Amino acid sequence: MFDWNQDPHRRFNPLTEEWVLVSPHRTDRPWQGQMEKPAVETQPAYDPNCYLCPGNSRAGGVRNPTYTSTFVFDNDFAALKPGTPVAHFEQSGLLIAESEPGVCRVVCFSPQHNLTLAKMEAADIRIVVDTWVEQYQSLGADPNIGYVQIFENRGAMMGASNPHPHCQIWAGRALPDEPAKEQAALLAWRERNKSCLLCEYARLEESAAARTVEANPHFLTVVPFWAVWPFETMVIARRHMGSLDQFTAEERDGLADILKRVTARYDRLFDVSFPYSMGFHQRPTDGARHDEWHFHAHFYPPLLRSATVRKFLVGYEMLATPQRDITAEAAAERLRSV
Ligand SMILES: [Zn+2]
Ligand SMILES: [Zn+2]
Ligand SMILES: [Zn+2]
Repeated sequence: MFDWNQDPHRRFNPLTEEWVLVSPHRTDRPWQGQMEKPAVETQPAYDPNCYLCPGNSRAGGVRNPTYTSTFVFDNDFAALKPGTPVAHFEQSGLLIAESEPGVCRVVCFSPQHNLTLAKMEAADIRIVVDTWVEQYQSLGADPNIGYVQIFENRGAMMGASNPHPHCQIWAGRALPDEPAKEQAALLAWRERNKSCLLCEYARLEESAAARTVEANPHFLTVVPFWAVWPFETMVIARRHMGSLDQFTAEERDGLADILKRVTARYDRLFDVSFPYSMGFHQRPTDGARHDEWHFHAHFYPPLLRSATVRKFLVGYEMLATPQRDITAEAAAERLRSV
């Protein structure tokens, strides 16, 4: 008799139409890795050497204002530049390139160097949400900007070069691959079922409850059935809305609340400031309506079984398909218990 909690199986991600291999029996194998807790690093509220702290100077000599709330500036080492001329290159249908104009910004969540979303007050995160809305609207209004990606890299393990609480916004002309895969799947689902994939999925998870981690009146957080990262979660809006600018005031508060609760739960899991990459997927800003889009956030944390043991996507996962050991249900249960 097949046992979903023990036997190897594949799970399908209907949002990207990709598969993940789940091998729950492998959690029984002996573990040789290190398990010790890292030394807890305490950060000061102000760091004179931090290029994001108020009043400090950044690369190129620009000095930050003595900001008291959120602070937004164009990235000094931007991957995209607004004035990039339009160009297209193609040879034999094999060598294809196109120019990509865009804007890269940094959003400091707070003037205080040693805060994180988990430690901030929900009322202060609400100001960050308002800043995201403004940025999504103003960047999206530019006819050269077709998609606005807001994301946060938290922790040195995820390549975040600075602990100061901040996120990045990369806004470009093209729809990048991850949202493009989701858009195709959302459109196909809508066409086939005359409904929204994520509205249906949120309802299903809510009634199943096995993978639910957090909930409030406006958002639901689950370990997705098809999660790749051990403690991956997805924050799904309960109402069918395509983007941040369609939120009511209560929904903005709701997002602030659930982000705080999810990140605080992560911190409690291994008793460490939990590293992750987090970002929003929402409606492109290419001028079309995109009624198929349903706002959500993904948290991709690398930690596997302690503050120091991380998951790598290597070998089979680079060459074949991603794989995980603990099931999404077991991960959700761990997260609910802390
Ligand atoms: Zn700082
Ligand atoms: Zn929906
Ligand atoms: Zn997504």
